[in-house]
Amino acid sequence: MVKICCIGAGYVGGPTMAVIALKCPNVQVTVVDIAEPRINAWNSGTLPIYEPGLDDVVKQCRGKNLFFSTEVEKHVAESDIIFVSVNTPTKTQGLGAGKAADLTYWESAARMIADVSKSDKIVVEKSTVPVKTAEAIERILTHNKKGINFTILSNPEFLAEGTAIQDLFNPDRVLIGGRETPEGQKAINALRDVYANWVPKERILCTNLWSAELSKLAANAFLAQRISSVNAMSALCESTGADVSQVSHSIGTDSRVGPKFLNASVGFGGSCFQKDILNLVYICECNGLPEVANYWKQVVKVNDYQKSRFVNRVVSSMFNTVSSKKIAILGFAFKKDTGDTRETPAIDVCKGLLGDKARLSIFDPQVTEDQILKDLSMKKFDKDHPSHLQPASPTSIKQVSIVGDAYEATKDSHGICILTEWDEFKKLDYQKVFDSMQKPAFVFDGRNIVDADKLRKIGFIVYCIGKPLDP
Ligand code: NAD
Repeated sequence: MVKICCIGAGYVGGPTMAVIALKCPNVQVTVVDIAEPRINAWNSGTLPIYEPGLDDVVKQCRGKNLFFSTEVEKHVAESDIIFVSVNTPTKTQGLGAGKAADLTYWESAARMIADVSKSDKIVVEKSTVPVKTAEAIERILTHNKKGINFTILSNPEFLAEGTAIQDLFNPDRVLIGGRETPEGQKAINALRDVYANWVPKERILCTNLWSAELSKLAANAFLAQRISSVNAMSALCESTGADVSQVSHSIGTDSRVGPKFLNASVGFGGSCFQKDILNLVYICECNGLPEVANYWKQVVKVNDYQKSRFVNRVVSSMFNTVSSKKIAILGFAFKKDTGDTRETPAIDVCKGLLGDKARLSIFDPQVTEDQILKDLSMKKFDKDHPSHLQPASPTSIKQVSIVGDAYEATKDSHGICILTEWDEFKKLDYQKVFDSMQKPAFVFDGRNIVDADKLRKIGFIVYCIGKPLDP
């Protein structure tokens, strides 16, 4: 029986390994992590991440051929194939701060693999890493290790949060990069055999190591660039009277462009797009390609511009001040069907509105109160202590309340900002919402999900991204 171990039980490691276990009953899969609470959650009835369909997959395999453990070294030592799916955030300090990938977690995982291994291993890069990382990892793994062969593969993950299980069941492609040596090709074949249990052979692409590593960064850069392109158009639409949905449709019907990923919005978020583009920018700069670096940098700049444009629109529409006005924030996750708030545009929008002294009432069906307060750099208001003893935070905690449903959030508010495209926000009883609000009642739809004409008939003043203002 092939034994697989995955280091990192996060948004990628957990779901990918659960699907491998489900589709390969003859493979034993153990997901390990140093974060004990996370592993405890994977072993409990409440998984640490919300992802449609994930519970079901885990329930079918856990305890049979899928295991979650904090005994990292033991399971690494016992496995034939080791996936490394640790976080690779943007460096915050030192050389390359603000752009380069922080490979601290990767390096410590590689050192540990080198230390505990007593037999040959295939080590798979599942995390998104800078191109040429495998070269450095190889050096770490083989240093002082005589007689054990480590073969490195790059197998970047293309799943999208919110549709991870669907994406893993039916991937557009699986990419495996390896060295063009006999060992490299043997390792590629071993990993291809795992995926071939459910992925059609023609969708398993095999490349050299550097192409696979770079393809992941390039794929995210292209996807984010599409969003920034349509968002840049949305600004021009608002100035000219064009409608961005009509423009997107017209562009997308060209078969060379295609219709997907052309929705204008308040901006992209998530842990990957910005991080990976900044990483690409850094790699271009290190390779003496400043013009290419500047090209990609602009994708992030347009995204920042889109978020600040949205805040400015809210404030300017509400008579140039939101001071003391209650604003309902509907949605905090970076997209629907996930509870993930990493780099969500909601953070920038909320901070922008708080900077103008708005009072926020926030509701998201999957994001916890603790998470939202943490993201807004706030501490919980302790009801049992007088306010002068409360911990200092950048804005008064009294400015923010996190509530249990959309009706509570919108009650008595002056305006609503829709920041995540949760289906339930499309289906609200907007007449009831309108009746409970201060007048004039504003809706700022950062995801273009509401029926603006219907809302205007009720009496709302409605702003949608890239669409003519209240006609
Ligand atoms: P995550 O933060 O959810 O999970 C990473 C896990 O690795 C954490 O639980 C952490 O405790 C663990 N970890 C770190 N160092 C460790 C060590 N030395 N030993 C054991 N465990 C360790 O991150 P994620 O969202 O799953 O992303 C992982 C990688 O996959 C990143 O490189 C990311 O860019 C990439 N990726 C993410 C997505 C996504 O949608 N989230 C999609 C594709 C690729």
